Amino acid sequence: MKDIFRVSRMWRPRGELKKRYDVVVIGGGSHGLATAYYLAKNHGVKDVAVLEKSYIGSGASGRNTTIIRSNYRTPEGAAFYSRSVKLYEQLSADLDFNLMFSQHGHLTLAHSERAMVTMQERAEVNQLLGIDSRVVYPEEIARLCPQINLGPRQTWPIQGALYHAPGGIIRHDAVVWGLARGADRAGVEIHPYTEVTGIERTSGRATAVETNRGRVEADVVVSAVAGWSTLVCGLAGVRLPITTHILQAFVTEPVKPFLDVIIVSAQMHVYVSQTDRGEFLIGAEIEPYTTYKSIGTFPFLEYSARHTLELFPQLERLRVLRTWTGLCDLSPDYSPILGRTEVENFHVSAGWGTYGFKAAPIVGTTLAKLVATGETPDLIAPFALERFHTDELVSELAAAAVSH
Ligand SMILES: Cc1cc2nc3c(=O)[nH]c(=O)nc-3n(C[C@H](O)[C@H](O)[C@H](O)COP(=O)(O)OP(=O)(O)OC[C@H]3O[C@@H](n4cnc5c(N)ncnc54)[C@H](O)[C@@H]3O)c2cc1C
Repeated sequence: MKDIFRVSRMWRPRGELKKRYDVVVIGGGSHGLATAYYLAKNHGVKDVAVLEKSYIGSGASGRNTTIIRSNYRTPEGAAFYSRSVKLYEQLSADLDFNLMFSQHGHLTLAHSERAMVTMQERAEVNQLLGIDSRVVYPEEIARLCPQINLGPRQTWPIQGALYHAPGGIIRHDAVVWGLARGADRAGVEIHPYTEVTGIERTSGRATAVETNRGRVEADVVVSAVAGWSTLVCGLAGVRLPITTHILQAFVTEPVKPFLDVIIVSAQMHVYVSQTDRGEFLIGAEIEPYTTYKSIGTFPFLEYSARHTLELFPQLERLRVLRTWTGLCDLSPDYSPILGRTEVENFHVSAGWGTYGFKAAPIVGTTLAKLVATGETPDLIAPFALERFHTDELVSELAAAAVSH
């Protein structure tokens, strides 16, 4: 038969595990794969294995609501995410894979005087760092999003918003597959269904991992397991100040293009976008209890739908197509924990809460640099685990939480 009928694989099927690698990355999500990809691409470090306990992209990377933005509240956070958005802008070309990144704008609604002050503060921090972000008032909101209900009879009337034009959405599965394909083509080994069950230390240094497929030695071990971070880091004796919660989302049946900005309301605990398939993608804040169980709840569907309809009453007759959950690893200051730990050569990417997908390229480039050179890049220095001992927190609560 002709070649056109041959299905080409995105990456090689897994082979036998070697006894030793220069680098073992735990977690086959966007962060683990990006770290492996940039290790090979930027530093020529190719003797790398990505170990994933389930299928590639089975964690939050394959479940998120794909918002990419950089309008954070702290200078440290805004600079970090801004660099990530720039990397995302060129990632389709880099990977030679269409990630369907659509920067169609992001509106964070303000429903009170206090919220307007916070938006102003964020806009000022953003503008000082050259990030396109400004406060807009109802007249301009009506121009940017004519479909939104700005009427006075809302439960939470809209006073204004933070408008961030470069904010957008992307195809999350494409990001995962593109990074995995790029890493694989550069020589990295990808091992799905390979669970790390132990981490060996010798004289305070990580030297090997135990897996359900045997023992593997490594010069450097990187943990990029998001919701499972406390469990995996615990295997190395590293304690993280993280709690794991579920976050839920749902999509409606697809309809014709209707909404071309992302709408977020922290007050109403809801955010809405329309995907390239025409579905309305709707999410909320994490559930307040800690759990590893991926069970959705009816109250989430009920209140998110109710709040969405306050903003867009026109969607009243749309049917919900599917709903799902994912794990979120929340740090006390809503900023990530990135880089070295007290165990030598055991590095971590964690504390991503509900907002880590947008950080995948910058996590990959900075962790790859740390692994390859032993130097902590300036951009991630403020996010060191150590900050919880030295009390130098980077409080991102005002711009994280429901804003994703
Ligand atoms: C519903 C939802 C909506 C979200 N929306 C957004 C958004 O709009 N924008 C945004 O920026 N972020 C969003 N996030 C957050 C974002 O998805 C995550 O922060 C990000 O994907 C984390 O990526 P990761 O690669 O670190 O982790 P993951 O993608 O979770 O990958 C970790 C992997 O580690 C594997 N693993 C765990 N333990 C082991 C082990 N012992 N051995 C081997 N492998 C192991 C897991 O199976 C998993 O595949 C959302 C999250 C959810 C759940």
